[in-house]
Amino acid sequence: MKFGRISVMAVAATAALGLAACGGGTSGGSGGGSGAVKIGIKFDQPGLGLKAGADYTGMDVDLAKYIAKELGYSSTEFVEAVSAQRETLISTDQVKYIVGTYSITDARKEKVSFAGPYFIAGQDLLVRADDTSITGVDSLAGKKLCSVKGSTSATNVQKKVPGVNLQEYNTYTLCVDALKAGNVDALTTDDTILAGYAAQDANKGKLKVVGKTFSTENYGVGLKKGDVEFCKKVTDAITKYISSGEWQKAVDKNLGPAGYKPGAGNPPTPAACA
Ligand code: GLU
Repeated sequence: MKFGRISVMAVAATAALGLAACGGGTSGGSGGGSGAVKIGIKFDQPGLGLKAGADYTGMDVDLAKYIAKELGYSSTEFVEAVSAQRETLISTDQVKYIVGTYSITDARKEKVSFAGPYFIAGQDLLVRADDTSITGVDSLAGKKLCSVKGSTSATNVQKKVPGVNLQEYNTYTLCVDALKAGNVDALTTDDTILAGYAAQDANKGKLKVVGKTFSTENYGVGLKKGDVEFCKKVTDAITKYISSGEWQKAVDKNLGPAGYKPGAGNPPTPAACA
């Protein structure tokens, strides 16, 4: 078995060299290209970006692949982009672009550029199924809350509920675990993400989404700051994704099983690249 492994690896290495020789599109330069492309996605958000073994699924994964195909890349390599690492992954060329529930904000635009929006979500709360005391953002006094470092969810909720008792982890799954263990009373982030967790087999009947959104999250594709040429190509791909019906198909396939219905404003019209 050991030999088999080594020869497979040798073949893989040769294939990688071959691709590199064809001129990769992973870093530098603008405009799209040939070869493999490294894309940042979430690895632990069911329905959006989920890694299970060698399989990647979700609405963001489908759009990430569609963009890669439209731009002429021959293959994709997915890199985990946790919320707080996204700007760094892009600015240091570790990924060419990110499709990872990435809200377009002015603060982030200081470091990266965005194509989109391609989806509009809203911040909500996930609580234990038997909890009737949390009915919205106004009932969080004295409650322990969980969210993720570097997310708009963490900053939004601190603005809305000054002094809120907020625990910040690296990933949302860590918050889900803390919620189930009773270490926090609620997890706050986008309703899309929360719907995915609530519908997971392991959480069914244990967790529920409150269902009262209190923000507008415009999801964009993050890319190198100022790369207008590349941004325009990604924007064209998003526009085609929506007009061709692929967007709706991806939404139905990925968010449908969790019973999630896109809210007002969907599908959005992508903005012009500045
Ligand atoms: N959409 C929000 C954000 O970009 C929350 C989800 C996330 O952390 O990916 O921060």
